[in-house]
Amino acid sequence: MTDSYAVFGNPIAQSKSPAIHRHFCDQTGEDMAYTKQLVAEGEFKQAADTFFNGGGRGLNITAPFKLDAFHYATRLTPRAERAGAVNLLIKENDGSITGDTSDGIGMVNDMLNMGWELEGKKLLILGAGGAVRGVLEPLLGQKPSSVTIANRTVSKAEQLVKDFHDLGELNACSFDELSDGHFDVVINGTSAGLHGERVNLPDNLLASQAACYDMSYAAEPTGFLRWAEEQGAAKLTDGLGMLVGQAAESFYAWRHIRPEVVPVITELRRKMTESKKK
Ligand code: NDP
Repeated sequence: MTDSYAVFGNPIAQSKSPAIHRHFCDQTGEDMAYTKQLVAEGEFKQAADTFFNGGGRGLNITAPFKLDAFHYATRLTPRAERAGAVNLLIKENDGSITGDTSDGIGMVNDMLNMGWELEGKKLLILGAGGAVRGVLEPLLGQKPSSVTIANRTVSKAEQLVKDFHDLGELNACSFDELSDGHFDVVINGTSAGLHGERVNLPDNLLASQAACYDMSYAAEPTGFLRWAEEQGAAKLTDGLGMLVGQAAESFYAWRHIRPEVVPVITELRRKMTESKKK
């Protein structure tokens, strides 16, 4: 029987996850179905129960249900426990449901696949929401020399420093306190771009040969990536590779086969550019 997987979210129409998993199935020959499901707010548990009781093997979870999924899981991986959010549910053979988070490892793998160096580098992260919480553990695992978290609401950045300080050198500040940082890698984890806004950043934040990563993605360069280009960043990219990377980690957790991500990123990018032209 074909194993069944899905992504839950609200909204969900825009989700690229079914297309990504179709590519992974074509590559690996795995027999699985992957659909997207719109779930009404407040109905996550009921929808997940129906899915798993009907034989479903695994779920991806996107906004706004990552916290619901965290509470739904029977057990959590250590990284999900620390992140406080779950984007991946796995039905185990004994019927229990494991909750994991694969966004962070997806982003770090994307950076490493592109040849970006993180070890010994000075990192700046903009934002202190759920996505940033999810990437901190895998990022700190790469042994950067320091990580500064700048956020509009400074208390949230300070909370992250408290929660992750045992994993490396972490600092918190407001955007106004940023100056002359000489950061080697700058990561935008704010959702400012989604609201058509742009974080105001000072000049001279970047070290020479700096790399800039925007977790959000769009057919057009984001406001943050336009800023990075103006500032002379040597490398820059959006979060499409993070999306495909988290999907690859999910696929591996479910099927124990590691799909190739680069051809899938290339194909999605081609389709995004094509649809922009129409
Ligand atoms: P959250 O809502 O949890 O956090 C939003 C963050 O953005 C907060 O730090 C918030 O600051 C900040 N922010 C929002 N608007 C502004 C603004 N106008 N100016 C400055 N800061 C602002 O969202 P997530 O953490 O879940 O998502 C963040 C981004 O990451 C989104 O763009 C999302 O699409 C992307 N993402 C990409 C993934 C991928 O696979 N590529 C996976 C997951 C997320 P404050 O605390 O002050 O409110």
